[in-house]
Amino acid sequence: MAGAFWCIVEDDRQGNPKKVMAEVLGEAARLAGLMGSQAEAVWLTDKATPEGLKLLAELGAKRVWLFESAAFSPYRGEVWAAALADLAAKESPKAILAPVSTRLRELMARLAARMGAGLSADCTALTLDGDRLVATRPVYSGKILAKMTWAKTPWMATLRPNVFRPGDAQPGAAPAVEKPSITAAAAMLKFVERREESATGLPELTEAEIVVSGGRGLKGPENFVILESLAKVIGAAVGASRAAVDAGWRPHRFQIGQTGRTISPKLYLGFGISGAIQHLAGMRTSKIICAINKDPEAPIFKIADYGIVGDLFEVAPALEQEFKKLLEK
Ligand SMILES: Cc1cc2nc3c(=O)[nH]c(=O)nc-3n(C[C@H](O)[C@H](O)[C@H](O)COP(=O)(O)OP(=O)(O)OC[C@H]3O[C@@H](n4cnc5c(N)ncnc54)[C@H](O)[C@@H]3O)c2cc1C
Repeated sequence: MAGAFWCIVEDDRQGNPKKVMAEVLGEAARLAGLMGSQAEAVWLTDKATPEGLKLLAELGAKRVWLFESAAFSPYRGEVWAAALADLAAKESPKAILAPVSTRLRELMARLAARMGAGLSADCTALTLDGDRLVATRPVYSGKILAKMTWAKTPWMATLRPNVFRPGDAQPGAAPAVEKPSITAAAAMLKFVERREESATGLPELTEAEIVVSGGRGLKGPENFVILESLAKVIGAAVGASRAAVDAGWRPHRFQIGQTGRTISPKLYLGFGISGAIQHLAGMRTSKIICAINKDPEAPIFKIADYGIVGDLFEVAPALEQEFKKLLEK
């Protein structure tokens, strides 16, 4: 419907929407409900599964716009943005929302430029002020929160994962699927090679409820096994500071911070990380921050909810044992 709140779907490349879509669709449904409108999902993929479509409906999408074509895989921003801009010109959505992910963050910027629309990136709150949408987003590495609004529709925003509350699931809701005609733009980028990320067996960093993160204090790549072992016990993802990444101890996709990933887990455990402003930019919206550092003056203690002054090589295994005992009870 015209005036709908669109949500661009992030998926696992296997035909399943990612967990973060519960938050984006939940927020879209909440806002749309206040305006007498509805949330709709827009999914560009080379393979959608029936389960994936059903899940989108259960998460609050009253309609799923399904662009299903080999042309959409692998992701190329210019191809996706052209298809979306065409549909948006016909359907006039009130808002276009997407989770912050590597590709959707780029897609939304392209789409906004193409449509001459405003984009508020990495939002941590959305509210309605009369008939205006107001976005809150951290700026200056999270030191202040800026509020912004849009001069015209569509209101475009990317939403930080693990911040927005998922809506109430509607089990059994059936998806109303629309398949727009696809006139995919010719790709300007040529596909050269695909490298699959090696599976860690741990949750994805930006979606994880608990993140265990290691810095230069780990002293070498071999010592990340200490954090991985702890992470397995508590179901956490493992992240790293830029110092650890620059040293080649972890791949860049695990870097947290201004030039890495932004995370908002329920619990962040930082081992041997000093707490530079650029690192804080990527994790300061974590609900509970626990820092482990042998230097009592380390800046990370200023923002930590809990601090342990000690040697991480003693503290990490000790914490693992205690968590094991607690979880076995
Ligand atoms: C433009 C720019 C962008 C940047 N982007 C990022 C970014 O995205 N992410 C990021 O993380 N950084 C980023 N940085 C780098 C940032 O400024 C810091 O250099 C970096 O975060 C430091 O990493 P660290 O805390 O692991 O290392 P350090 O600052 O060296 O801290 C290591 C800590 O480990 C502690 N330690 C040592 N041994 C032990 C032990 N046995 N037990 C317990 N504690 C121990 C030390 O006391 C120390 O506090 C950026 C910098 C710039 C200029």
